[in-house]
Amino acid sequence: MNKKGHVLNAVLLSIGLGYILEPATELSAVPETLWTMVAITVPVTLGAMVPDIDTAFGTHRKTLHNLPLLIGFVAFPFYFGNLEYVWIGVLTHYVLDMAGSRRGIALFYPLLSTEYDLPTGVPVSSRYATIVTVLVTGVELAVAAAIVFDVPQWGLEVGRQTLGI
Ligand SMILES: [Zn+2]
Repeated sequence: MNKKGHVLNAVLLSIGLGYILEPATELSAVPETLWTMVAITVPVTLGAMVPDIDTAFGTHRKTLHNLPLLIGFVAFPFYFGNLEYVWIGVLTHYVLDMAGSRRGIALFYPLLSTEYDLPTGVPVSSRYATIVTVLVTGVELAVAAAIVFDVPQWGLEVGRQTLGI
């Protein structure tokens, strides 16, 4: 996808994530939800811009489109205490490139130069690129909601069964 697509994906995803993580069930909770949305949107959008820096430095869809870079961004906050949420922007960039466009990314670069792609997506210049971007974002939010709401429930269930209560 192009920069416009990645920004659209990052902003929509962040707004959705803000609601999933801090859902406002009554009017008085709305400021807290909006605060969470802003806290997530800025770093996620910046993170979504990072991979395509390799159009200027390195080899596009390889140098900054790989799992080692993503792992680095996941680990960074634990060691340095900042850049939380930036990894989500990097991850969603990879997902959009793989699921939304026709060309893949070199996930295991620099070990392998092979580009991996999903059999979905349209050419970056297609007039359907925006709708595909919105659809991919919707699937991402569904997965995020399933993780946030279902996994704790599932963990509780497994824990209960293990303890026999
Ligand atoms: Zn890219």
